[in-house]
Amino acid sequence: MNQDNPVIILIQIAVPLVLTFLLVYKYIDYLTKTTHFVCPACRSSFKLSKKDFAVALKTGVLNERIVTCPVCGYKGSMPIVKDRS
Ligand SMILES: [Zn+2]
Repeated sequence: MNQDNPVIILIQIAVPLVLTFLLVYKYIDYLTKTTHFVCPACRSSFKLSKKDFAVALKTGVLNERIVTCPVCGYKGSMPIVKDRS
């Protein structure tokens, strides 16, 4: 009887965590590669790095984030726009 093997418990906790992390990473990787933002102030379009995208605040609206324009410095909510392929 050794049901409380700490290694098995650790694996049961770690595997779902790692899988969740990988899924989120893939999702952000996909989004940053296929989408961009358009600044409402200066009309320039720009992409976010994976890191910036991960920390960008959600607005409560689907596909919208609070981001800062790298061109003019405007900060506000901008919709996530799909790249034209
Ligand atoms: Zn701008």
